[in-house]
Amino acid sequence: MAEVIVRKLNKKFDSNHVVKDVDLHIRDKEFVVFVGPSGCGKTTTLRMIAGLEAITSGDILIGNTVVNQVPPMDRDIAMVFQNYALYPHMSVASNMAFGLKMRKFEKPEIEKRIKRAAEILGIGELLHRKPRQLSGGQRQRVALGRAIVRDPKVFLFDEPLSNLDAKLRVQMRVELKKLHERLAVTSIYVTHDQVEAMTLGDRVVVMKDGVVQQVGEPLELYNTPANRFVAGFIGSPAMNFAEVTLSGADGKLWAEAPGLKIGLPEPIARRANGRNGAKATVGIRPEDLHVAGPADPAELCFDVEVEVIEQLGSEILLDTRAGNSTFVASVEPTLRTKLHDRLRLAINPNRLHLFDAQTEA
Ligand code: ADP
Ligand code: MG
Repeated sequence: MAEVIVRKLNKKFDSNHVVKDVDLHIRDKEFVVFVGPSGCGKTTTLRMIAGLEAITSGDILIGNTVVNQVPPMDRDIAMVFQNYALYPHMSVASNMAFGLKMRKFEKPEIEKRIKRAAEILGIGELLHRKPRQLSGGQRQRVALGRAIVRDPKVFLFDEPLSNLDAKLRVQMRVELKKLHERLAVTSIYVTHDQVEAMTLGDRVVVMKDGVVQQVGEPLELYNTPANRFVAGFIGSPAMNFAEVTLSGADGKLWAEAPGLKIGLPEPIARRANGRNGAKATVGIRPEDLHVAGPADPAELCFDVEVEVIEQLGSEILLDTRAGNSTFVASVEPTLRTKLHDRLRLAINPNRLHLFDAQTEA
C-alpha cells in the first residue's frame, strides 16, 4: 500500500530532453494510466519510477520514502512488460518463483503465493509448462502472476496488452480491472491506446513531448480537455476541429469560416470576450452532432455536404464538408442519406469547445 509522488522529474539522454518537469501525486490504491503518442516519454518515466533508468533531476517517492538512489530490487515494486520477459527454459511455476527466491523467501511461502496467484489468474493447470507451450494470453497471465506473487507496494505496467490480438486485449483489459479491484494495489499503467487509458484509469495522465498535458478522471478529460492536443487524443472517433475567425455582432460572438457560421454559447463567448477578429479553433465531437430538427437553435446549425457514409450498425459515421471545414458526425443508424446529399447538422447544446488557433494537429 503506497502513494507514489513524482516531483519536477526530468530525464535527458545526452542533449535529448525526453521527460520535462513531471509532477504527479498518485494515491494509495489508485490506478493511474500514462497515455500519449509513441516517443512522448511514458516508458522512460515508468522506468525511472522502477529504478531501471537513472533520473536527471527531481524526486521520486514511494510510500513516503525518497527512492532516487534506491536500487530497483529494493523499491518494492513489480513491473509487467510488453514482451512478458519470461525465462524460456523455466516452467511457469519457476518463472513465478524466481523473484521470490532471489529475495530469499522460504519454500512454503513461495508455494503458497504461487498457488494463490495461479488461482486468481486461472492458470493452475499451466504451472508445469514452459512459456513456449503457452498462448499469448496465457503468457501474459504468467507475467501478471510473477508480479502478483511479489505482493509489492506498486504495480508498474508497460503496454502489457499490446502483443495480444484485439479481442484478447479487450478481455484482458476487463480482467486487469477486476484484478485491481481485488488486489487494490497502487498501479501505474503505460499505454498509447486512449481507449485502454479511459477504461482502466481512475485517473489518466496525458503526455506529449515529455510534458504532462492534463491529469484527470476519464470523463473530465473527455468533457473538459485542457487543450487541443488532449481534445484530439481522447475520444474516438476523434474530435472535429475547424479553424475559425471570431467575430462579434448583435451582442453575440460568432465563429466563422468559409461556408460556416456558428454562434458561440454564452459561457464560451464570455471567456473569449474581446477576441473579436482573432483566429481560433472550434472543436466538436462526432457524437455531439446530429441531423438538425425544428427544436435546434439556428445558431448551432450549419449546412454540410455528405462525402462518405460509414454504416456501423449501431451508428452511421458521416464524413461531411462545410466550405473548407470537414466534420465527422455520428448519427442514427436508421438515417437514410446518400453521397452528396446536403444536410443541416446541429451541435448538441453546451458541447462546443473553443481552443487557441494552432497549426499542428
Ligand atoms: P514512449 O514510451 O512514450 O513511447 P519512451 O520513453 O520510450 O517513449 O522514449 C522517449 C524518448 O526517449 C524517445 O525519443 C526515445 O527515442 C528516447 N529514448 C528512450 N530510451 C532511450 C535510451 N536508452 N537512450 C537514448 N534515448 C532514449
Ligand atoms: Mg513505451
